[in-house]
Amino acid sequence: MTSHPKLQSTPQESNAPPANPFLNGRKPLKIVIIGGSCAALFAAILLKRQGHNIRILESAPSSSREGLAAGIGLAAHVKRFFDEHDRLKDIPFGTPNDTINFLDAEMQVRQKVPVGLIMTTWDATYYRLRANFDGLRSPYCAEPPTIEEGEGEEVFETGKRATVVEEVVDGLSVVVEDVGTNEQLRHEADMVIAADGANSTMRRQLEPQLQRAEPGYVIWRGTVPTADLSQELLDKIEGHTIFYPMQHSYAVIYTIPGENGTLAPGSRHINFAWYFWPTPSVPTSAILTDIHNHQHRTTLPKGLMRPEIWSAQLSTAREMFNPLLYSLISQIKEPFVSVISSVMSPRARYMNDRLFLIGDALAQVQPNTGQGTNLAALDAMLLADVVKGDLSAEEWEKRVLEVSQEESAKAKGFAKQWLGELNPSSG
Ligand SMILES: Cc1cc2nc3c(=O)[nH]c(=O)nc-3n(C[C@H](O)[C@H](O)[C@H](O)COP(=O)(O)OP(=O)(O)OC[C@H]3O[C@@H](n4cnc5c(N)ncnc54)[C@H](O)[C@@H]3O)c2cc1C
Repeated sequence: MTSHPKLQSTPQESNAPPANPFLNGRKPLKIVIIGGSCAALFAAILLKRQGHNIRILESAPSSSREGLAAGIGLAAHVKRFFDEHDRLKDIPFGTPNDTINFLDAEMQVRQKVPVGLIMTTWDATYYRLRANFDGLRSPYCAEPPTIEEGEGEEVFETGKRATVVEEVVDGLSVVVEDVGTNEQLRHEADMVIAADGANSTMRRQLEPQLQRAEPGYVIWRGTVPTADLSQELLDKIEGHTIFYPMQHSYAVIYTIPGENGTLAPGSRHINFAWYFWPTPSVPTSAILTDIHNHQHRTTLPKGLMRPEIWSAQLSTAREMFNPLLYSLISQIKEPFVSVISSVMSPRARYMNDRLFLIGDALAQVQPNTGQGTNLAALDAMLLADVVKGDLSAEEWEKRVLEVSQEESAKAKGFAKQWLGELNPSSG
């Protein structure tokens, strides 16, 4: 057999990434991951399969969790993660949304962009990742995959809030508070991954001066079972991502799995997201004040919206949307709303390349282009290469920061194009 000349050459010594003396070649490493959502689980699965021992610390009190019902798109990096590492490929995961259809006010398709995107839910993603990581059984995954030989040990602890990470003689020490008892404990680690989300405690410890940026608009959201909608409407929207532009505002509508991940037509859900500048008559502070008179900081969760706030928004919707789309919005039973924000850490690695920020803790990109989970998957996959010794921590940081900055700029540019830069009702 003749071999291709290119395959005969050996890599140059100088091309090899500089080894990380703390991490490379040591197995099993004790790795603590702070946060137990998508970014954490992407990293946990890969590193456990490299043979390392993983302890996830999640502040939520239970492993049973519910998504925001905002939908998650299986964009390139997430798709690659599941194509390469998911051991549950026989369980269907999401609903195809084959094209982005730009609709005009008469509901006519003005432009059709083929995307072939699969849309799923946070719940389906989370439970699938848990089944892959620690074999958690759920309505989404009744038969978790078996653990293979050579994998490290795993612990997923709930009700544990990490408060500080400190450098100690031969590693790191994570100070943890038990959410139920307030008792303090510590976990020693060779490496810590902070995947504690957009409101990251760890990022605040490391970059205390950093502030979230808020352009001033909000996103109204909700889901409706397809069974509650007319066939006339479903013919226009089901199985596509719909983009509906309005003056200084737009809505995005797409199809996601229904209860417990069901994909059967008739039991799927339609997801509605409406970017909107609040008006002086119903300002953001009023929108975020719930039925108990508590004002939320960024998201007013499902079930807590004051009826008068939703009915005022429905009146605005009736004026701004085609009646067919209004028939969707008026069917939303549990609307929720978030203030749009973004934040990006200037660095991703700390404490002699033993503490790493990933996912929303590293960079929360505005949701306009739906990149949050996608970036989390990329951060985690590249970090697994660092631990393996295939990528230097320096190169990892350069790449994750560059990609996050690029995606952040794209999301802001897209928002500016359709919403403008200033609240039209402010001046
Ligand atoms: C319950 C939930 C539902 C979501 N639903 C949706 C959705 O429907 N659509 C969508 O696009 N995005 C959703 N997201 C956000 C989405 O997961 C992220 O934008 C993206 O996947 C990046 O994930 P992340 O793991 O970096 O951050 P996050 O998903 O925000 O996860 C951070 C995790 O860290 C935990 N945590 C925070 N502080 C601490 C601490 N000090 N110690 C220990 N744990 C801590 C949080 O409880 C959370 O589980 C949801 C997030 C959560 C937590």
